[in-house]
Amino acid sequence: MQILDQLGISRAVQALVERAESSLSCIFSSIEKTAELNQYKVVEAFRAHNIGARHFAPTTGYGYSDEGRQALADVFTHIMRAQGAVLSPHIVSGTHAISIALFAVLRPGDTLISVTGKPYDTLHHVIGIGNSDKDTGSLANFGVEYRQVEWPENGVIDVEQVVTAIKSSPRAKALFIQRSRGYAWRRALTIQDIRDFVQQIKKLYPDIIVIVDNCYGEFCEVEEPIEAGADLIAGSMIKNPGGGLTPTGGYIAGRADLVALAENRLTCPGLGSEVGSYEASYRPFFQGLFMAPHVVGEALKGSVLAARVFEELGFDVFPAHDAKRSDITQSIRLGDESLLLAYTKGIQKAAAIDSHAVPIPWDMPGYDDPIVMAAGTFVQGASIELSADAPLKPPYIVYAQGALTYAHMKLGLMYALTEMKII
Ligand SMILES: *Cc1c(COP(=O)(O)O)cnc(C)c1O
Repeated sequence: MQILDQLGISRAVQALVERAESSLSCIFSSIEKTAELNQYKVVEAFRAHNIGARHFAPTTGYGYSDEGRQALADVFTHIMRAQGAVLSPHIVSGTHAISIALFAVLRPGDTLISVTGKPYDTLHHVIGIGNSDKDTGSLANFGVEYRQVEWPENGVIDVEQVVTAIKSSPRAKALFIQRSRGYAWRRALTIQDIRDFVQQIKKLYPDIIVIVDNCYGEFCEVEEPIEAGADLIAGSMIKNPGGGLTPTGGYIAGRADLVALAENRLTCPGLGSEVGSYEASYRPFFQGLFMAPHVVGEALKGSVLAARVFEELGFDVFPAHDAKRSDITQSIRLGDESLLLAYTKGIQKAAAIDSHAVPIPWDMPGYDDPIVMAAGTFVQGASIELSADAPLKPPYIVYAQGALTYAHMKLGLMYALTEMKII
């Protein structure tokens, strides 16, 4: 293709990617079907709550009777089939949202049990894993105990081990599930996996609270974890549910009593969700939610293409191109530091924003290893946009996420392959 020739993409790279794409139409149409059903669901929620232009209006100060704040929560509650939700620009990130959910539910003397192995890096500090002695205000500092059931080889949560962990805990209060793969060579849990697990565990322990880190999972399937029996979910608005338009924020949704506690944690007891203003418009929050099903579909198609291309080149990828997906992340084991850096360099080159930058590894706040991150994004660090990141350590796995459009991911892959000089 002439324009790709001009961009310096070799004919061999073009041919490889075209060939990979030509085998994917069945998978793409099933992804598009999911996006379609989720689009209906989102519009239905907007209609049910009579969303109008007045909900976009800016507010200041305390934000008393801020209609947009309430309407956003209502729409999101509806979409997630929850009893309540907070969706706020005052939640700074996914980590913050999950932290609010954990602190909302857990009290001194309680035990939190992660049932999907080690949680995402940034949550170690929240829980106090590895530094429980240091006073940072972590859960550990407040006397919340933590246990962990390792991620099992076969990829199915080990119910027996979870039961053992509950029995050996003084006050097991909550179970923590990470839906997405995070920085681990594991699969994402599907909604069906979550349903199977919750059904088994709630039969034995009906009062235990199931909290799901839903980052990267939203809109990948036609249902969400609340429908599968989870009590509380949390995530980031600059990932899937923001549709690439939402400028910042996070959410928590689930059981009404637990959401009320989360509201008190986000602001303070007595104020909850009665306050909170936003002087910029809420419009990109609503519009981002509206776009999210489609954008997540584009991201999923991009991940499938990446999987197929790298499978053809003989790399280990996870998930395989034809596996069922419940998150947007594609892991590719590159096995070599220079290939990893070349991949991220290529992705950055394909960006619409900051395409001149070269990603270099750095000690990102909250992460244990140096991270190299390609993210030439409209919204800073938004990994629903074309992006890739990786902890700089063997076996040099790159985690590719996102792309607002499928074509952008395709271009990113071609730039990455060009930088990697492997064909
Ligand atoms: C992104 C992510 C988080 C939270 O990260 P933030 O950068 O704070 O939004 C937590 N868990 C998983 C699995 C994630 O992918």
